[in-house]
Amino acid sequence: MIQVHNFINGAYVSPVAGQYLDNYAPATGLISGTIPNSDATDVDNAVQAANAAFPAWAALSLEKRHEILLKIADGILQNLDKLAAAESADSGKTLHTARTIDIPRAALNFRFFATALLHVASESHHQPGVLSYTLRQPIGVVGCIAPWNLPLYLFTWKIAPALAAGNCVVGKPSEITPLTAYLLGAICNEAGLPPGVLNILHGLGPTTGAAIVGHPAVKAISFTGSTRAGADIARVAAPVFKKLSLELGGKNPNIIFADCDYDKMLETTVRSSFNNQGQICLCGSRIYIEKSLYPTFKKDFVARVKALKVGDPADPASNLGAVVSKAHFEKVLGCIELARQEGGIVLCGGGALEMPGSLAGGYYIAPTIIEGLPTQCRTNQEEIFGPVVTIQPFDDENDALAQANDSPYGLSATLWTNHLQRAHRMAGALQTGIVWVNTWMLRDLRTPFGGVKNSGMGREGGWEALRFFTEAKNVTVEL
Ligand code: NAD
Repeated sequence: MIQVHNFINGAYVSPVAGQYLDNYAPATGLISGTIPNSDATDVDNAVQAANAAFPAWAALSLEKRHEILLKIADGILQNLDKLAAAESADSGKTLHTARTIDIPRAALNFRFFATALLHVASESHHQPGVLSYTLRQPIGVVGCIAPWNLPLYLFTWKIAPALAAGNCVVGKPSEITPLTAYLLGAICNEAGLPPGVLNILHGLGPTTGAAIVGHPAVKAISFTGSTRAGADIARVAAPVFKKLSLELGGKNPNIIFADCDYDKMLETTVRSSFNNQGQICLCGSRIYIEKSLYPTFKKDFVARVKALKVGDPADPASNLGAVVSKAHFEKVLGCIELARQEGGIVLCGGGALEMPGSLAGGYYIAPTIIEGLPTQCRTNQEEIFGPVVTIQPFDDENDALAQANDSPYGLSATLWTNHLQRAHRMAGALQTGIVWVNTWMLRDLRTPFGGVKNSGMGREGGWEALRFFTEAKNVTVEL
């Protein structure tokens, strides 16, 4: 049993009111520990610590800031095994995924922004007799709120640029996956991060999260999570003009033309559908296949997916582990039931999996492929965020585009074709913030990351993140 504490002003502390929540292990369904159920007093304590630390952190030389952030990256890698085990236990993802994707990327987030901060240059504008230049100043105290699907990976994707830009942070991981954020505090202390620069609070979204968003001294919020919570946050932040970055839900189309590199497409489509139990915001959950290829694709895709092994997340042979929580397990099963009611034909999977021994109470769902549904049905319009995809044929480029764009979401799209002009035409016409062509989730951390429509507003990554976490101030001098 692990008792998680808040991390405020460089120290692990209990919540002031002494309230805790149970934390569950998705692999077994059993309670694995407790986490603080932090309230507005805890949030205020964290904000005060951050406020007090801000002047010195903002004034620190870039070289020193760079050094500390690099040491945090090193500390994460030195603790790779411990962090990966905690991430897998907390989220149900396979240990292999946590070891090879989540934790290395968390280290890379710090390394990337530690380096980036040394290369920032701001604009200047000249004309005869007039010189204007732009200062990019840290904002002050910022809030970073992260979801459960890639816990440390997405938490650090916000914290690292916020700190690199000279801000102090009050952060909150998801209450469903608190462990790696909890362990990060000690790593930051070891790396020499001054007390108060990063504060990590645990608790529920509508209470702890809402208290961070509503705190008047928190000047910007970087949020990744559901569209519903994003809308709640925007309602609080908008009237007081807080800076907002919102990375929200998705329902990403995966468009496959008959002229694609078939083997690579098939292998990648299995991953882009079911990696992390389909719980990656970039997973392609609506798969559109050119009519002539549809029967072959359907046969091969179903065979490949049936061969995937769902099992103990700690077992290296498992391709999929458990979904993240009982509530999410029930939601995903409800979505599969809805698809059946809407007339969908389940080609494989279609329900929960019984597991032996200690895993019997865990949240395991068979990877599920459904066909025969129209674009406008709820199954194809609403985010499921689990191991469930739909497949449907299309006639031509226009039909594929029309179906892909017929969605309230617009995070990413994947396109499989070797037709050069068509690839560029479609990339330009897809209503998403990100388009992958003949690949999936190939990340270059310098590129703008984010969505359109109900998938959010603002962009993360590279300069976009450093711009978000700074205020531009123009200075004009008459010469
Ligand atoms: P969620 O919205 O329930 O919670 C996300 C975080 O916000 C948690 O820390 C939660 O405690 C907090 N929160 C919830 N309500 C809040 C409120 N009113 N005020 C402040 N904080 C609040 O999302 P989730 O279920 O943890 O994550 C899954 C969702 O995240 C999916 O919709 C997925 O698509 C999305 N997601 C998006 C991206 C992206 O980059 N666009 C990446 C990963 C996940």
